[in-house]
This record gives sequence, structure tokens and C-alpha cells, in this order.
Amino acid sequence: MGYSTKVNSIVKDVVIHRYPCAQIRKRGGGPGKYGQVHWGDFDALDAAEEYAKKWEMKGYQKKYCSFCTKGLTI
Ligand SMILES: [Zn+2]
Repeated sequence: MGYSTKVNSIVKDVVIHRYPCAQIRKRGGGPGKYGQVHWGDFDALDAAEEYAKKWEMKGYQKKYCSFCTKGLTI
């Protein structure tokens, strides 16, 4: 099972999702109205975390999707 990160440069947050999350499927809508949304794909949570951390250092807030990461041990 893979993980996905969603970076929003307007809200300034990075959200970690776990497949299969309904939120990820919404990415079919494209990169957002203002091109502000960037998706990343990762095989392991570690890699997703590491990526999210890079954004965190830029002042972004790291979050976990309340749907798909519920009950997940992080
Ligand atoms: Zn999710």
C-alpha cells in the first residue's frame, strides 16, 4: 500500500494520505483552481514523511488525513 502527499501552497500545508483514500481520487480534478496543489506518491510512509518534513522546514504545516490515516501508528 502506498502513500500520497498533497502540498497546498496557498493554505501552506502538506497532508499525508494513505491509499486508497477517497481524497486521493479527487486529484482527478487536477492541480487545483490556482495550480496550488502538488501531489506526490510514495511507497513507504517514511519517504512520505521525509518529503513532508522538507515542506515543514519551509513553514508548511504537516498534517495527516483524518480519514485514511485514522488508526495508523505514526
Ligand atoms: Zn486521506
